[in-house]
Amino acid sequence: MTRPTDLYCVMGNPVEHSRSPWIHARFAELTGQALAYERRLVPLDGFGAALRDFAQAGGRGCNITVPFKLEAAQAASVRSERVQLAGAANTLSFIDGTIHADNTDGLGLVADIEQGADFALAGRDVLLVGAGGAAAGALGPLLAAGPRRVVVANRTLERAQALVQSHAALAALQKTELSAQFPQALEHDFDLIINATASSLAGAEVPVPARVLRPGSLAYDMMYGPAAEGFLGWAREHGATPRDGLGMLVEQAAEAFRIWRGVRPPSGQVLAQLRALMATPAAH
Ligand code: NDP
Repeated sequence: MTRPTDLYCVMGNPVEHSRSPWIHARFAELTGQALAYERRLVPLDGFGAALRDFAQAGGRGCNITVPFKLEAAQAASVRSERVQLAGAANTLSFIDGTIHADNTDGLGLVADIEQGADFALAGRDVLLVGAGGAAAGALGPLLAAGPRRVVVANRTLERAQALVQSHAALAALQKTELSAQFPQALEHDFDLIINATASSLAGAEVPVPARVLRPGSLAYDMMYGPAAEGFLGWAREHGATPRDGLGMLVEQAAEAFRIWRGVRPPSGQVLAQLRALMATPAAH
């Protein structure tokens, strides 16, 4: 009797653009794991039902993207510390009828900064711009890497302040100075600037003044593809080193794959393949 192939998916709305099926298919191929990974478009009011359907179909795990990450954290009965801190989940595992939630976005970001960009976070000054789900997922793993200072800047200051408050104990433990700021009030430059806003999707200006950059700063946009170009061009213009979020995307997927399959896939190799694929005009 042949064993049914283990089933995984990404749930979101929209979800057609998601590169996750491609990435997980490469991971499976390179690690010799037998699995199927599909896209599931979920109606905005249908997340709970989608999870139940997927579990009934024998689903083993799913990635969650916009706009369901908060609901995913709530739907789980076992939440990792990272999910508890972020209030959001991007990786669910179905184990013996129970949903376990994790958040690998921040781990993916830190892995891509430290290994992909070869930038050690310990002792650095970091500016995290934005205070939505992506910033919330990033802040815990960023603090765990031991920077000297992290400033969270958001146009809605209260959201940045709430993130600072929920991460204050971790920051104290790490001896990292953590504060919230209104973007236009930023006066100093930073070693690393992370754009975790959706501003370029909205076609808006870069949401921080250029004085936050200095020559040699790393300027990281969680976005990738054409949407990241405005921020990355701005960074280059001011002497900073630009990096897009494609590596974060692959690294967060690699961490989800490790959680599900117990094997860490060769993420660097898959990132190089994905960059090559996206550089061909037909891939956009
Ligand atoms: P949210 O909707 O939760 O948060 C959006 C954030 O952007 C908020 O801080 C919001 O500010 C800010 N913002 C939106 N528009 C503007 C603007 N015009 N000017 C200034 N700030 C603005 O989104 P997410 O946090 O989930 O996602 C943020 C980005 O990160 C997305 O572009 C997403 O694609 C990317 N991402 C990339 C990942 C990867 O693997 N590479 C993983 C996860 C996310 P306010 O609070 O004031 O509304």
